[in-house]
Amino acid sequence: MLAIKAARLFDGRSDHWVRDGVVVVAGGKIQAVGAGAAVPAGAQVLDLGDVTLLPGLIDCHTHLSFESSDDFTRDTVTRLRRDVAEAAIRATANARHTLMAGFTTVRDVGSADFIDVGLRNAIRDGVIPGPRMLVAVHMLGARGGHADGAGFAFKRLGEEPGIERGIASGPDQFRDAVRFAVKYGADVIKVGATGGVLSLSDEVDTPQVTQAEIDAIVDEAHRLHKRAAAHAHGVTGAKAAIRAGIDSIEHGSFLDEEGLRMMKEHGTYLVPTLLAGEYASGRVVPRHYPPEIAAKADAAVAQRSAMFRNALRIGVKVAFGTDSAVSPHGLNAKEFALLVAHGMTPAAALRTAMGPAADLLGLPGQIGTLEAGKQADVVAVPGDPLADVKVMERVSFVMKGGQIWKVAGVEK
Ligand SMILES: [Zn+2]
Repeated sequence: MLAIKAARLFDGRSDHWVRDGVVVVAGGKIQAVGAGAAVPAGAQVLDLGDVTLLPGLIDCHTHLSFESSDDFTRDTVTRLRRDVAEAAIRATANARHTLMAGFTTVRDVGSADFIDVGLRNAIRDGVIPGPRMLVAVHMLGARGGHADGAGFAFKRLGEEPGIERGIASGPDQFRDAVRFAVKYGADVIKVGATGGVLSLSDEVDTPQVTQAEIDAIVDEAHRLHKRAAAHAHGVTGAKAAIRAGIDSIEHGSFLDEEGLRMMKEHGTYLVPTLLAGEYASGRVVPRHYPPEIAAKADAAVAQRSAMFRNALRIGVKVAFGTDSAVSPHGLNAKEFALLVAHGMTPAAALRTAMGPAADLLGLPGQIGTLEAGKQADVVAVPGDPLADVKVMERVSFVMKGGQIWKVAGVEK
């Protein structure tokens, strides 16, 4: 039994932290939590001093199997040359960076070659360090669309993608594509409902599945007790997904008042991925894209800030997501400052990676807040994150399921 003590504790359930926080951990679970909670006799005490204890963070939109640099064309060539084994080994490093940044759970919404399934299982079995993962296997989508590596002539290589890569047509085929993904390990279903930014030949805002197709995808996912997430920039595709009962809209760049009101009404989560916009638009470091991609990145990022402010005004539920892979893995916490810059209070911004994210993942009883009975996922940051949310970028302590991975900034 271990009692973790710190100057401040933010349990993710209120707008405030409390002084002299204590979290008592035993058997990988939280036994007790609170201000000056009693330290049981015989418990080991770990006093972290002048830090703030928080629940382990949750990122609802990562791609641990992928990476990108500032050069799209070079990345494309690299990806085509890299064999599955090399990509999988690199993914293990991405998982480690993510965990050490305080993200103890991620929803990984698109991989290739089942790398995400292998990664999830290896982490679960204690073979490698990394966050608890819910995986999508691959993004489902239409031929020629964002999920289909739009713009590349796969047929010349004799491998026009089909259901085994998530590419389908018509409600029945899409049902089969959902079943295929679940058969091979998907915890969550991801669909490309509209065009995307980082694909060559599609327009970013066009719908890429029909209402009947997305109805079938969401129905089949829910029938198999899986949540469904829609990549959607454009408003028509997003509305079809919301109507179908999708659990979250990812990105949502061009969503209008009506679309956001539909989300509010349906209880659909928005995963805004503001950090991806910062990187894709070249605001963080200059990016070298083919002109058709640069134009899409500019168009999406030009709309997303107003969209997000409207979403906050309307009261749409927000869950934290970064689209890490577009940004480097392990910088996930940079999203917090962006959420605050767009009008969220620091407490509300922090909570997007806590209770609401756990709710979106279907794990509200297990993770997301510091509460007795939940997984002992505990992180700490120096200083006061409610006064300066950027301290979230300097996580100094990481515990996942009762196992310590970082203490005083030193990784295990
Ligand atoms: Zn993504």
